[in-house]
Amino acid sequence: MSQECIFCKIAAKQIPAQIVYEDEQMLVFRDLNPVAPEHVLLIPKRHIPSLRKMAAEDQPAVNAVMAAVPQVANLLGLTEAGFRLVTNTGEDGGQTVGHLHWHLMGGRKMTWPPG
Ligand code: 5GP
Ligand code: ZN
Repeated sequence: MSQECIFCKIAAKQIPAQIVYEDEQMLVFRDLNPVAPEHVLLIPKRHIPSLRKMAAEDQPAVNAVMAAVPQVANLLGLTEAGFRLVTNTGEDGGQTVGHLHWHLMGGRKMTWPPG
């Protein structure tokens, strides 16, 4: 756990979040500033700074996050209409929190290309 990391603190239940799914390796909670009717963040509980910094020993946690996507989408009611899954990486990618996370968004039609 990184002491300064807000998502590590959420994973450790040191600061509150609206948790929608949890298992040993990962946590899903609602984004504080949603940009879609449904907008949650999927995080590995272990501190991984970004997709670029992912190491071999991080693979099981990352696999757990990916494997949970269909179940989490179903929980949110995001079924046939679909959803979008995004990982921002680094400054150009628009990453603002340095703990690997995926945005799962849905409930409206997304546009492409992104900004
Ligand atoms: P990024 O910009 O790194 O891709 O995504 C970070 C996301 O985390 C943003 O969408 C932001 O709204 C969300 N966020 C930042 N701080 C908190 C927090 O303390 N609680 C929750 N639930 N979401 C947060
Ligand atoms: Zn962290």
